[in-house]
Amino acid sequence: MAEATTQETLNPFAIAQAQLDKAAEILHLEPAVHALLREPIRELHVTLPVKMDDGTTKVFKGFRVQYNDARGPTKGGIRFHPDETIDTVRALAAWMTWKTAVVDIPLGGAKGGVICNPKEMSPAELERLSRAYIRQVGRIIGLEKDVPAPDVYTNPQIMAWMADEYAFLKGYNEFGVITGKPLALGGSKGRNDATARGGMYVIREAAKVLGIETSGATMAIQGFGNAGQYAATLGRELLGTVIVAVSDSKGGIYKADGLDPDAVIRHKQETGSVVGFPGAEPISNAELLELEVDILVPAALENVITAANAPNIKARISAELANGPTTPEADEILWKNGVYVLPDFLCNAGGVTVSYFEMVQNAYDYYWDLETVHERLDRKMTAAFHAVHEAAQRFDIDNRTAAYVVAVDRVAEAVRLRGWV
Ligand code: NAD
Repeated sequence: MAEATTQETLNPFAIAQAQLDKAAEILHLEPAVHALLREPIRELHVTLPVKMDDGTTKVFKGFRVQYNDARGPTKGGIRFHPDETIDTVRALAAWMTWKTAVVDIPLGGAKGGVICNPKEMSPAELERLSRAYIRQVGRIIGLEKDVPAPDVYTNPQIMAWMADEYAFLKGYNEFGVITGKPLALGGSKGRNDATARGGMYVIREAAKVLGIETSGATMAIQGFGNAGQYAATLGRELLGTVIVAVSDSKGGIYKADGLDPDAVIRHKQETGSVVGFPGAEPISNAELLELEVDILVPAALENVITAANAPNIKARISAELANGPTTPEADEILWKNGVYVLPDFLCNAGGVTVSYFEMVQNAYDYYWDLETVHERLDRKMTAAFHAVHEAAQRFDIDNRTAAYVVAVDRVAEAVRLRGWV
């Protein structure tokens, strides 16, 4: 992670609030609506005793934050991460609220997290932790209330265990309680790559308005998990980009004439990291961000682009698949330097959009083919990009503030219509 200046706050929730404040000013939001949208409506803190394989019991802390449900049931992933904090979960829940609003799906925003290190846990321990989490948060989630999904270090298997535990609590199957499930348990086709695919559609539209030819454009990707790996394969497939650098938590690799994403994925599957990929030069995560590329894709964690390294970012487009990779101070520097930022809650909204499609399919018990998912996702992402682009032009503001203006306006309208304020 980059070093921040001493004054710069890296608290993700303080950042989320500061971003909202900027949009509130442009929208002349009434003070009460603004105050309501600055805080989560509801949050649950849970303590989870879990039996470990060696016979001991370990106690984990978990959270579920339901940020705002004015537009519909809340929705948001669950992270398993050693550095998870309640403020990270609050920020992510806020961003989910703006994300569902910017792509205009009838949902609110939520997020969950458990402080744990899944890399040091066996599958059986992870299963017991997943079930323990649902036993505690089960009382506040549900198809009509709040619908979790995968996020960092959680996956379809974990969603399946959670859906199963919820079915035991209810006494019947309610697959729509959680999305990102395996296909055999009511998952949607196209969910696995939806976040990256949605991001590629947004990059395609941005490239059109910027007059950039994506075929042959260079791309560097930080983070090589679900979002990053699919960004690499779909960047090549849908946009014709050349992937020159990728990284994960152990380090990065660079190859000027392009990496073969499938071969790098195989290497990571075999060795646990992209590091050491034959024929590529090693590169640090910090160096990757500063490469002279057409498209930079932060796809790991938050606060990687700060006031300290923002002046060195040379990419023409920064397409944020990660949540919260850029601090507000860095945003201002990128805006001044002409780096075209596709903000996280627009760029990575493909995941929640297909999760919403999954909920719709579960409700009808009728499943769509892959082409239908792709086509409907494309329509949602394209419309969202153009709504944000128009707001950016109209108010002469950066894309993140424009995305906030579009999203906050929609949530505020629902809050007023419901008579909350
Ligand atoms: P993941 O767990 O599949 O992958 C995370 C990747 O980041 C791993 O390759 C890991 O090695 C890497 N990483 C961790 N710490 C790092 C560091 N310090 N430097 C560089 N790389 C590091 O998670 P994911 O689902 O791909 O999520 C990545 C980001 O995308 C997160 O910010 C997440 O919130 C966001 N996101 C994901 C989805 C989704 O559907 N998967 C949807 C929206 C947003």
